[in-house]
Parts: sequence; C-alpha cells; structure tokens
Amino acid sequence: MRTRVDAETLRRWFAYASASLHEQREHLTQLDAAIGDADQGTNMDRGFTVVVAKLHALEAATPREILIVAGTTLMSSVGGTSGALWGTALRRAGAALGDAGEIDTSALARTFEAALASVIELGGAEEGDKTMVDALAPATRALREQAERGATPAVALAAARAAAEEGMHATTPLQARKGRASYLGERSIGHQDPGATATVLIVAALERAVSDTVDHV
Ligand code: ADP
Ligand code: MG
Repeated sequence: MRTRVDAETLRRWFAYASASLHEQREHLTQLDAAIGDADQGTNMDRGFTVVVAKLHALEAATPREILIVAGTTLMSSVGGTSGALWGTALRRAGAALGDAGEIDTSALARTFEAALASVIELGGAEEGDKTMVDALAPATRALREQAERGATPAVALAAARAAAEEGMHATTPLQARKGRASYLGERSIGHQDPGATATVLIVAALERAVSDTVDHV
C-alpha cells in the first residue's frame, strides 16, 4: 500500500478544497461576521473555484507549476487578506519544490515551511495572534516531525490535520492581535478565527486527496 503526492494529487486537492470551502461558506462567513467583515466564506469559495477552473484549463504541469498557478490565481481573484496570504503561501510552496514529479514527506514538510514563512513574513503574525498561522504552524511542525520519523505522506497529513484542528480550536479564547479582528480588542475573545478554520479545511482536503491515491496491491 503506497500513497503518492504528485500533480494529479494536487489537482484533486484543489477540487476537494474548493468543494469543502463551498460547502462551509456560510459557516466561514458567520465566523468572519462575528470578528471581521463577513467575507471569508465568499472570498475563499470564489478564489478556489477560480483556481479549479484555471487548473482544468492547464495542460500537463509539474507540482511546482500547479502550486504557482494556484497561488497567482488566488492573488488576483480574491480580495481581502486571505487572498494575498494564501496566494503568496502557495506560490512560495511551489517555488520550494524542485522539478520532481512526486513529493515525499520531507518535501511536503519543506513546502509547508516555505508557505508558513511567507505568511509570517507578509502578515507579521505570530502564533497566538488568532490568525491562520495558529492552524498552519502546528500543521507544519507535525509534518516535519512525521518526516523525521519516516512516515508516509498520508500518515503525516493525518497528523498535520489533527494539529491544525487543535490550533483552530485554540484560537477561540485568544484576543486577536492581527487583521481586522484585532480592531475589536477584547471583544474578539470567544470566537473561533475564520482564517484558521479555512486552513483546517484546506489541510483536510490535502489529507483526503493523498489518501485517495492508495494503490491496493
Ligand atoms: P479581511 O480582513 O481582509 O476581510 P479575510 O476575511 O479574507 O480578510 O481573512 C481574514 C482572516 O485572515 C483572519 O481570520 C485571519 O486568520 C487571517 N489574517 C488576518 N490578518 C492576518 C495576518 N496579519 N497574518 C496572518 N493571517 C491573518
Ligand atoms: Mg474578512
């Protein structure tokens, strides 16, 4: 039994992420309505829908090209902070990959590390600021730990998704220190961060896309 992360897997990832963001659009919007401007659901749904269409029109491409096209598309199709942050994250993730057709767990960890670093560089948030970083950082650490243990991408991504979920739940009692929610000060306490919530959906979609590549031989 073997799992693969290749161009097909990444295309499936964006299809699953888009479906999941579409399905959770109202939930994300409600979370953003509580501490932001109620556009997180619309932003992410629209952006990922455009990404799927762009990838559909894209002929054979390497994982690197797919991530860069997806990132560029998000940057141009999504207004708001998350378009810029996710766009940059995916472009940097792609740039961190070589021309290899297949991504192993170490490359996956390296890719997430590049994405996380770009989000921190652009947005200036640290863990605990109640942003998407609170889900992405623990997911990235989990991938690195799993890579060091020699885990398969599927096992590593299950750990990453669980870590992201834990980070997402941990945003609820926090006071926001970055983004629109920070304008609310103490009133941001008691609400789950929408960006961290979307991050869990995106990591979970990758986990599913990868586990679907299992060859039963
Ligand atoms: P906007 O505030 O422009 O409407 P979105 O609704 O697209 O932004 O995204 C809001 C999410 O973006 C927040 O829930 C948070 O997770 C994330 N976010 C906001 N500011 C930052 C930042 N400086 N660094 C990282 N993530 C951020
Ligand atoms: Mg918003």
